[in-house]
Amino acid sequence: MSATIHIALGSNRVHSRHGAPSAVIRAAIAAIADAGLLVVAQSAIRATPPLGPRQRRFANAVIAVTTDLRPQAVLALLQGIEAAFGRRRGRRWGPRVLDLDLIAAGATVVRARGLTVPHVELAHRDFVLAPLVEIDGGWRHPLLHLTARQLRARLLQPKCTTEGP
Ligand code: ATP
Ligand code: MG
Ligand code: MG
Repeated sequence: MSATIHIALGSNRVHSRHGAPSAVIRAAIAAIADAGLLVVAQSAIRATPPLGPRQRRFANAVIAVTTDLRPQAVLALLQGIEAAFGRRRGRRWGPRVLDLDLIAAGATVVRARGLTVPHVELAHRDFVLAPLVEIDGGWRHPLLHLTARQLRARLLQPKCTTEGP
């Protein structure tokens, strides 16, 4: 049975063939479709301020695909595309030409070596939640029991402290 999977795409390096990060994202979406995943929704490609010091701006987007593949097989496919774009494994937060993360697979929960679904950082990253809300705000996190829209509202709400004056 085919399932809907959400994939987050990120890039903050110019690619020798594809060019600027936003063009890398567009080319990666085409590569994902060529690999046989049916792209059913695609957010706008956003420019996001960098996470670490001395890095370029990121381009980020989220897409929804449908596939018969299991999440592990989808991750393997995504890692193959990262490698084809010249991604080298190494520093986790370093500049990268392409990052493809499996964000969610409907109500499926995976906690395996090398794959956690929903993605562990999902609820803390507006550069993922904003495009996810754009294409599927009603998706419900199977562990937190909140929709993408509710997760984003929670992330953006001003922090309250429990400390007294
Ligand atoms: P982050 O996961 O915080 O966004 P990153 O994307 O830069 O960091 P990577 O270097 O791309 O990290 O991947 C590190 C490891 O994360 C990979 O070896 C992969 O097996 C693992 N991983 C676990 N869960 C996921 C997931 N849902 N999507 C993609 N990779 C995952
Ligand atoms: Mg990532
Ligand atoms: Mg990654």
